[in-house]
Amino acid sequence: MDFIDLKAQQERIRASLDKRIAKVLDHGGYILGPEVQELESKLNNYCGTKFCLSCANGTDALLMPLLAMGIGPNDVILAPAFTFFATAEVIGLLGAKTLFVDVDPKTFNITNKTLEAAMEMLSKKHPGLKARGLISVNLFGLPADYDSIGKFCQKYNLFCLEDAAQSFGSSYHGRKSCSLASISATSFFPAKPLGCYGDGGAVFCDDEDLYLKLKSIRVHGQGQSKYHNERLGLNARLDTIQAAVLLEKLTIFDEELDLRNNVAARYTEQLRDLVKSGFIQTPIIPEHCISSWAQYTLIVKNRDGLIQHLNKSDIPTMIYYVVPMHLQEAFKDLGYIKGDLPNSEMLSDSVVSIPMHPYLTLSDQDKIIAGIRAFYT
Ligand SMILES: *Cc1c(COP(=O)(O)O)cnc(C)c1O
Repeated sequence: MDFIDLKAQQERIRASLDKRIAKVLDHGGYILGPEVQELESKLNNYCGTKFCLSCANGTDALLMPLLAMGIGPNDVILAPAFTFFATAEVIGLLGAKTLFVDVDPKTFNITNKTLEAAMEMLSKKHPGLKARGLISVNLFGLPADYDSIGKFCQKYNLFCLEDAAQSFGSSYHGRKSCSLASISATSFFPAKPLGCYGDGGAVFCDDEDLYLKLKSIRVHGQGQSKYHNERLGLNARLDTIQAAVLLEKLTIFDEELDLRNNVAARYTEQLRDLVKSGFIQTPIIPEHCISSWAQYTLIVKNRDGLIQHLNKSDIPTMIYYVVPMHLQEAFKDLGYIKGDLPNSEMLSDSVVSIPMHPYLTLSDQDKIIAGIRAFYT
Protein backbone atom coordinates (compact mmCIF):
# COMPACT_ATOMS: atom_id res chain seq x y z
CA MET A 1 0.00 0.00 0.00
CA ASP A 2 1.27 3.51 -0.81
CA PHE A 3 1.02 6.47 1.57
CA ILE A 4 0.20 8.61 -1.47
CA ASP A 5 -0.65 7.07 -4.84
CA LEU A 6 0.20 9.38 -7.73
CA LYS A 7 0.13 6.55 -10.26
CA ALA A 8 -3.62 5.95 -10.15
CA GLN A 9 -4.22 9.59 -10.96
CA GLN A 10 -1.68 9.56 -13.77
CA GLU A 11 -3.20 6.49 -15.38
CA ARG A 12 -6.52 8.31 -15.42
CA ILE A 13 -5.27 11.38 -17.29
CA ARG A 14 -2.15 10.02 -19.00
CA ALA A 15 -3.41 10.48 -22.57
CA SER A 16 -4.38 14.13 -22.09
CA LEU A 17 -1.22 14.80 -20.06
CA ASP A 18 0.89 13.43 -22.90
CA LYS A 19 -0.88 15.76 -25.33
CA ARG A 20 -0.42 18.80 -23.09
CA ILE A 21 3.28 18.09 -22.61
CA ALA A 22 3.79 17.33 -26.31
CA LYS A 23 2.32 20.75 -27.10
CA VAL A 24 5.00 22.41 -24.96
CA LEU A 25 7.69 20.34 -26.70
CA ASP A 26 6.27 21.49 -30.04
CA HIS A 27 6.18 25.22 -29.30
CA GLY A 28 9.41 25.16 -27.25
CA GLY A 29 8.49 27.99 -24.88
CA TYR A 30 9.93 26.24 -21.86
CA ILE A 31 10.27 29.40 -19.80
CA LEU A 32 7.08 31.42 -19.19
CA GLY A 33 5.37 29.83 -22.19
CA PRO A 34 1.64 30.35 -22.84
CA GLU A 35 0.59 27.57 -20.44
CA VAL A 36 1.98 29.58 -17.51
CA GLN A 37 -0.42 32.48 -18.08
CA GLU A 38 -3.27 30.14 -18.87
CA LEU A 39 -2.69 28.41 -15.55
CA GLU A 40 -2.43 31.66 -13.60
CA SER A 41 -5.71 32.86 -15.01
CA LYS A 42 -7.46 29.54 -14.24
CA LEU A 43 -6.06 29.55 -10.69
CA ASN A 44 -7.37 33.09 -10.21
CA ASN A 45 -10.80 31.99 -11.38
CA TYR A 46 -10.70 29.00 -9.10
CA CYS A 47 -9.68 30.94 -5.99
CA GLY A 48 -11.63 34.12 -6.65
CA THR A 49 -8.52 36.28 -6.57
CA LYS A 50 -7.44 39.14 -8.84
CA PHE A 51 -3.77 38.29 -9.29
CA CYS A 52 -1.93 34.99 -9.38
CA LEU A 53 1.78 34.66 -9.94
CA SER A 54 3.06 31.13 -10.41
CA CYS A 55 6.57 30.39 -9.16
CA ALA A 56 9.19 27.71 -8.66
CA ASN A 57 7.96 26.20 -5.38
CA GLY A 58 5.97 26.89 -2.23
CA THR A 59 8.98 28.15 -0.33
CA ASP A 60 9.62 30.87 -2.94
CA ALA A 61 5.90 31.65 -2.85
CA LEU A 62 6.34 32.51 0.84
CA LEU A 63 9.69 34.23 0.40
CA MET A 64 8.71 36.55 -2.47
CA PRO A 65 5.96 38.46 -0.61
CA LEU A 66 8.34 38.98 2.34
CA LEU A 67 10.97 40.30 -0.10
CA ALA A 68 8.39 42.53 -1.77
CA MET A 69 7.46 44.03 1.60
CA GLY A 70 11.08 44.62 2.52
CA ILE A 71 11.13 42.35 5.55
CA GLY A 72 14.56 42.37 7.17
CA PRO A 73 16.63 42.18 10.36
CA ASN A 74 14.58 44.61 12.44
CA ASP A 75 11.29 42.86 11.84
CA VAL A 76 9.41 40.21 13.77
CA ILE A 77 7.06 37.86 11.94
CA LEU A 78 4.66 35.57 13.79
CA ALA A 79 4.37 31.97 12.61
CA PRO A 80 3.01 28.73 14.05
CA ALA A 81 5.39 26.38 15.85
CA PHE A 82 3.65 23.30 14.45
CA THR A 83 4.17 23.41 10.68
CA PHE A 84 6.58 22.47 7.90
CA PHE A 85 10.02 24.05 8.26
CA ALA A 86 9.70 26.35 5.21
CA THR A 87 7.05 28.52 6.92
CA ALA A 88 9.59 29.84 9.40
CA GLU A 89 12.69 29.28 7.28
CA VAL A 90 11.83 32.15 4.92
CA ILE A 91 11.62 34.55 7.87
CA GLY A 92 15.07 33.55 9.10
CA LEU A 93 16.56 33.70 5.59
CA LEU A 94 15.77 37.43 5.48
CA GLY A 95 17.37 38.00 8.86
CA ALA A 96 14.01 38.70 10.47
CA LYS A 97 12.99 37.13 13.77
CA THR A 98 10.21 34.63 14.23
CA LEU A 99 7.78 34.89 17.12
CA PHE A 100 6.42 31.37 17.35
CA VAL A 101 2.72 30.89 17.99
CA ASP A 102 1.30 27.77 19.61
CA VAL A 103 -1.52 25.91 17.84
CA ASP A 104 -4.87 24.62 18.93
CA PRO A 105 -4.73 20.87 19.62
CA LYS A 106 -8.11 20.32 17.94
CA THR A 107 -7.55 22.08 14.61
CA PHE A 108 -3.70 22.08 14.55
CA ASN A 109 -3.97 25.76 13.60
CA ILE A 110 -3.25 29.08 15.33
CA THR A 111 -6.19 30.77 17.09
CA ASN A 112 -6.91 34.20 18.48
CA LYS A 113 -5.99 32.90 21.93
CA THR A 114 -2.60 31.50 20.91
CA LEU A 115 -1.86 34.62 18.84
CA GLU A 116 -2.55 36.90 21.80
CA ALA A 117 -0.42 34.68 24.03
CA ALA A 118 2.46 35.01 21.55
CA MET A 119 2.10 38.80 21.39
CA GLU A 120 2.47 38.94 25.16
CA MET A 121 5.91 37.37 24.70
CA LEU A 122 7.05 39.85 22.01
CA SER A 123 8.96 42.34 24.15
CA LYS A 124 10.58 39.59 26.19
CA LYS A 125 11.56 37.45 23.22
CA HIS A 126 12.58 40.19 20.79
CA PRO A 127 13.17 43.35 22.84
CA GLY A 128 13.05 46.57 20.83
CA LEU A 129 11.74 44.91 17.66
CA LYS A 130 8.38 45.45 16.02
CA ALA A 131 5.99 42.80 14.81
CA ARG A 132 5.27 43.40 11.11
CA GLY A 133 3.26 40.41 10.01
CA LEU A 134 1.93 36.93 10.46
CA ILE A 135 2.32 33.79 8.37
CA SER A 136 -0.80 31.76 9.01
CA VAL A 137 -0.73 28.08 8.04
CA ASN A 138 -3.74 25.98 7.04
CA LEU A 139 -2.28 22.78 8.39
CA PHE A 140 -3.11 19.44 6.75
CA GLY A 141 -5.59 21.26 4.48
CA LEU A 142 -7.83 22.90 7.09
CA PRO A 143 -8.14 26.69 6.87
CA ALA A 144 -7.30 28.57 10.07
CA ASP A 145 -9.92 30.92 11.51
CA TYR A 146 -9.47 33.95 9.25
CA ASP A 147 -12.24 36.04 10.80
CA SER A 148 -10.41 36.20 14.10
CA ILE A 149 -7.00 36.31 12.41
CA GLY A 150 -8.16 39.33 10.40
CA LYS A 151 -9.23 41.13 13.57
CA PHE A 152 -6.00 40.25 15.32
CA CYS A 153 -3.92 41.57 12.40
CA GLN A 154 -5.94 44.77 12.32
CA LYS A 155 -5.49 45.28 16.06
CA TYR A 156 -1.70 45.04 15.83
CA ASN A 157 -1.37 46.45 12.31
CA LEU A 158 0.15 43.28 10.84
CA PHE A 159 -0.04 41.91 7.33
CA CYS A 160 -1.22 38.32 7.01
CA LEU A 161 0.41 35.91 4.59
CA GLU A 162 -1.68 32.77 4.17
CA ASP A 163 0.53 29.68 3.90
CA ALA A 164 -1.83 27.61 1.77
CA ALA A 165 0.81 25.07 0.72
CA GLN A 166 -1.36 22.24 2.05
CA SER A 167 -4.79 23.76 1.58
CA PHE A 168 -5.31 24.54 -2.11
CA GLY A 169 -8.97 23.76 -2.82
CA SER A 170 -10.16 24.00 0.78
CA SER A 171 -12.68 26.62 1.83
CA TYR A 172 -13.66 28.81 4.76
CA HIS A 173 -17.23 30.21 4.91
CA GLY A 174 -17.51 29.45 1.21
CA ARG A 175 -14.33 31.35 0.31
CA LYS A 176 -11.50 29.40 -1.26
CA SER A 177 -8.11 29.03 0.34
CA CYS A 178 -5.54 31.30 -1.36
CA SER A 179 -8.05 34.15 -1.03
CA LEU A 180 -8.32 34.17 2.77
CA ALA A 181 -5.67 36.81 3.54
CA SER A 182 -4.27 39.80 1.70
CA ILE A 183 -1.46 37.60 0.33
CA SER A 184 -1.48 33.84 -0.09
CA ALA A 185 1.13 31.28 -1.07
CA THR A 186 0.65 27.72 -2.21
CA SER A 187 2.80 24.79 -3.32
CA PHE A 188 2.42 22.32 -6.18
CA PHE A 189 4.95 19.82 -4.80
CA PRO A 190 3.78 16.40 -6.08
CA ALA A 191 2.35 15.27 -2.73
CA LYS A 192 0.26 18.40 -2.11
CA PRO A 193 -3.48 18.34 -2.89
CA LEU A 194 -2.79 19.90 -6.33
CA GLY A 195 0.66 18.71 -7.31
CA CYS A 196 2.76 18.85 -10.47
CA TYR A 197 5.60 16.54 -11.54
CA GLY A 198 8.38 18.50 -9.93
CA ASP A 199 8.46 21.68 -7.88
CA GLY A 200 5.95 24.48 -8.31
CA GLY A 201 4.06 27.13 -6.39
CA ALA A 202 2.00 30.30 -6.68
CA VAL A 203 1.32 33.59 -4.90
CA PHE A 204 -2.13 35.20 -4.86
CA CYS A 205 -3.21 38.75 -4.02
CA ASP A 206 -5.68 41.46 -4.98
CA ASP A 207 -3.16 44.32 -4.86
CA GLU A 208 -1.76 45.22 -8.27
CA ASP A 209 1.31 47.04 -6.96
CA LEU A 210 2.28 44.04 -4.89
CA TYR A 211 1.65 41.75 -7.86
CA LEU A 212 3.95 43.81 -10.10
CA LYS A 213 6.67 43.73 -7.46
CA LEU A 214 6.32 39.97 -7.13
CA LYS A 215 6.50 39.62 -10.88
CA SER A 216 9.75 41.57 -10.91
CA ILE A 217 11.16 39.56 -7.99
CA ARG A 218 10.34 36.33 -9.80
CA VAL A 219 12.89 37.21 -12.49
CA HIS A 220 15.90 38.76 -10.72
CA GLY A 221 14.11 41.98 -9.84
CA GLN A 222 13.83 42.94 -13.48
CA GLY A 223 12.51 46.34 -14.49
CA GLN A 224 11.17 47.61 -17.81
CA SER A 225 13.46 45.35 -19.77
CA LYS A 226 15.40 42.20 -19.14
CA TYR A 227 18.71 43.92 -18.35
CA HIS A 228 17.36 46.68 -16.13
CA ASN A 229 17.13 45.46 -12.56
CA GLU A 230 15.18 47.53 -10.06
CA ARG A 231 15.75 45.35 -7.04
CA LEU A 232 17.27 42.06 -5.95
CA GLY A 233 15.11 39.10 -6.77
CA LEU A 234 15.24 35.41 -7.48
CA ASN A 235 15.06 32.99 -10.35
CA ALA A 236 11.69 31.65 -9.27
CA ARG A 237 9.68 30.89 -12.39
CA LEU A 238 7.38 27.91 -12.79
CA ASP A 239 8.46 25.70 -15.73
CA THR A 240 6.02 25.71 -18.66
CA ILE A 241 5.90 21.90 -18.60
CA GLN A 242 4.79 21.98 -14.95
CA ALA A 243 2.09 24.52 -15.82
CA ALA A 244 0.88 22.14 -18.55
CA VAL A 245 0.73 19.27 -16.04
CA LEU A 246 -1.19 21.43 -13.56
CA LEU A 247 -3.70 22.55 -16.21
CA GLU A 248 -4.56 18.93 -16.87
CA LYS A 249 -4.72 18.01 -13.19
CA LEU A 250 -6.96 20.99 -12.49
CA THR A 251 -9.66 19.48 -14.72
CA ILE A 252 -10.19 16.60 -12.26
CA PHE A 253 -9.23 18.44 -9.09
CA ASP A 254 -12.71 19.13 -7.70
CA GLU A 255 -13.71 15.53 -8.15
CA GLU A 256 -10.54 14.48 -6.34
CA LEU A 257 -11.37 16.84 -3.49
CA ASP A 258 -14.72 15.07 -3.09
CA LEU A 259 -12.98 11.70 -3.14
CA ARG A 260 -10.56 12.82 -0.42
CA ASN A 261 -13.46 14.08 1.65
CA ASN A 262 -15.20 10.70 1.24
CA VAL A 263 -12.13 8.87 2.51
CA ALA A 264 -11.85 11.24 5.47
CA ALA A 265 -15.53 10.91 6.36
CA ARG A 266 -15.25 7.13 6.30
CA TYR A 267 -12.14 7.10 8.50
CA THR A 268 -13.79 9.41 11.00
CA GLU A 269 -17.02 7.41 11.07
CA GLN A 270 -15.34 4.03 11.48
CA LEU A 271 -12.94 5.20 14.17
CA ARG A 272 -15.58 7.02 16.21
CA ASP A 273 -15.71 4.57 19.11
CA LEU A 274 -11.92 4.64 19.53
CA VAL A 275 -12.29 8.40 19.94
CA LYS A 276 -15.02 7.85 22.54
CA SER A 277 -12.78 5.43 24.44
CA GLY A 278 -10.02 8.03 24.47
CA PHE A 279 -7.43 6.07 22.46
CA ILE A 280 -7.28 8.46 19.52
CA GLN A 281 -8.52 11.83 18.30
CA THR A 282 -9.67 12.10 14.68
CA PRO A 283 -9.45 15.45 12.83
CA ILE A 284 -12.04 18.03 13.81
CA ILE A 285 -13.30 20.14 10.90
CA PRO A 286 -15.37 23.19 11.90
CA GLU A 287 -18.76 23.32 10.15
CA HIS A 288 -17.91 26.37 8.04
CA CYS A 289 -14.78 24.73 6.59
CA ILE A 290 -14.06 22.18 3.89
CA SER A 291 -10.61 20.61 4.17
CA SER A 292 -8.46 19.69 1.19
CA TRP A 293 -7.08 16.79 3.28
CA ALA A 294 -3.41 17.15 2.52
CA GLN A 295 -3.08 14.77 5.46
CA TYR A 296 -5.44 12.78 7.65
CA THR A 297 -3.75 13.10 11.01
CA LEU A 298 -4.62 11.36 14.25
CA ILE A 299 -3.55 12.17 17.80
CA VAL A 300 -2.92 8.78 19.35
CA LYS A 301 -1.95 7.00 22.55
CA ASN A 302 1.15 4.76 22.28
CA ARG A 303 2.19 6.09 18.88
CA ASP A 304 5.29 3.93 18.48
CA GLY A 305 3.30 0.79 19.19
CA LEU A 306 0.59 1.73 16.71
CA ILE A 307 3.07 2.54 13.95
CA GLN A 308 4.90 -0.77 14.48
CA HIS A 309 1.62 -2.65 14.47
CA LEU A 310 0.48 -0.99 11.22
CA ASN A 311 3.87 -1.47 9.55
CA LYS A 312 3.61 -5.21 10.18
CA SER A 313 0.47 -5.21 8.04
CA ASP A 314 2.18 -3.12 5.32
CA ILE A 315 0.22 0.02 6.25
CA PRO A 316 2.45 3.08 5.81
CA THR A 317 2.31 6.02 8.22
CA MET A 318 4.12 9.34 8.48
CA ILE A 319 4.76 11.73 11.35
CA TYR A 320 4.13 15.36 10.46
CA TYR A 321 5.91 16.89 12.37
CA VAL A 322 8.37 15.18 14.74
CA VAL A 323 10.04 18.39 15.93
CA PRO A 324 8.11 21.63 16.48
CA MET A 325 9.75 24.67 14.88
CA HIS A 326 10.69 26.44 18.12
CA LEU A 327 12.83 23.45 19.13
CA GLN A 328 14.57 23.04 15.75
CA GLU A 329 18.35 23.27 15.80
CA ALA A 330 18.22 25.92 13.04
CA PHE A 331 16.21 28.25 15.30
CA LYS A 332 18.17 27.73 18.50
CA ASP A 333 19.33 31.35 18.42
CA LEU A 334 15.74 32.40 19.09
CA GLY A 335 16.16 30.93 22.56
CA TYR A 336 13.06 28.79 22.90
CA ILE A 337 13.08 25.86 25.29
CA LYS A 338 10.94 22.79 25.83
CA GLY A 339 7.71 23.75 27.56
CA ASP A 340 7.39 27.14 25.81
CA LEU A 341 4.68 26.00 23.39
CA PRO A 342 3.08 22.97 25.01
CA ASN A 343 0.36 22.18 22.44
CA SER A 344 2.84 22.06 19.57
CA GLU A 345 5.15 19.86 21.64
CA MET A 346 2.30 17.54 22.62
CA LEU A 347 1.31 17.19 18.95
CA SER A 348 4.86 16.46 17.83
CA ASP A 349 4.92 13.66 20.39
CA SER A 350 1.56 12.13 19.52
CA VAL A 351 0.42 12.70 15.93
CA VAL A 352 0.51 10.19 13.11
CA SER A 353 -0.80 10.56 9.57
CA ILE A 354 -2.40 7.64 7.75
CA PRO A 355 -2.69 7.14 3.97
CA MET A 356 -4.84 9.79 2.28
CA HIS A 357 -5.37 10.27 -1.44
CA PRO A 358 -8.35 10.31 -3.81
CA TYR A 359 -7.76 6.80 -5.14
CA LEU A 360 -7.50 4.92 -1.85
CA THR A 361 -9.64 1.82 -2.45
CA LEU A 362 -12.39 0.77 -0.06
CA SER A 363 -10.47 -2.41 0.73
CA ASP A 364 -7.31 -0.44 1.62
CA GLN A 365 -9.41 1.92 3.74
CA ASP A 366 -10.92 -1.08 5.52
CA LYS A 367 -7.49 -2.58 6.08
CA ILE A 368 -6.21 0.66 7.63
CA ILE A 369 -9.28 1.06 9.83
CA ALA A 370 -9.13 -2.59 10.93
CA GLY A 371 -5.42 -2.25 11.67
CA ILE A 372 -5.95 0.71 13.97
CA ARG A 373 -8.96 -0.91 15.65
CA ALA A 374 -7.09 -4.16 16.24
CA PHE A 375 -4.28 -2.32 18.01
CA TYR A 376 -6.54 -0.66 20.55
CA THR A 377 -9.19 -3.31 21.11
C1 LIG B 1 5.16 22.08 1.47
C2 LIG B 1 5.06 23.26 2.33
C3 LIG B 1 5.77 24.44 2.07
C4 LIG B 1 6.84 24.54 1.02
O1 LIG B 1 6.46 24.17 -0.26
P1 LIG B 1 7.59 23.66 -1.29
O2 LIG B 1 6.85 23.65 -2.59
O3 LIG B 1 7.99 22.29 -0.85
O4 LIG B 1 8.70 24.62 -1.27
C5 LIG B 1 5.54 25.54 2.88
N1 LIG B 1 4.68 25.49 3.89
C6 LIG B 1 3.97 24.37 4.18
C7 LIG B 1 3.00 24.40 5.33
C8 LIG B 1 4.16 23.21 3.43
O5 LIG B 1 3.48 22.11 3.75
